[in-house]
Amino acid sequence: MSRRKKLFPCGHKGYGQRCHLCAQKEQQQEQRKQEKEDWQLTFTADPIDLRHLPKNVVLKARQILAGLANHQDYRTFHGKRLRHDRFIISIPVTRHYRLLCRDQGHQVTPEEVISHEDYNVCKPGH
Ligand SMILES: [Zn+2]
Repeated sequence: MSRRKKLFPCGHKGYGQRCHLCAQKEQQQEQRKQEKEDWQLTFTADPIDLRHLPKNVVLKARQILAGLANHQDYRTFHGKRLRHDRFIISIPVTRHYRLLCRDQGHQVTPEEVISHEDYNVCKPGH
């Protein structure tokens, strides 16, 4: 029995019932989709919404959030109180993002991660 390459409807050539190249591609797409879904699921465990942020910012922010949850001092993360509102603490996440927290006396509660641009906009007198 001779094995002859078939031309599949997709335009690829190969052996067997279906195109292996396309099957492989589909599998890769499925895997990427799964990875994306898994990534989306990780956000449900965050104390604040990080979905709008780039992945590196999300990962860095989570390190800080975990530290704060473990009662690490915000100064460990180079956090500073805002000059115009001493109850707001700004912690650098990356060069371009800040984690804003509220000092509630007995604890520091994370509120949101904003970009440096947004941060400058919400400062009065700017
Ligand atoms: Zn194909």
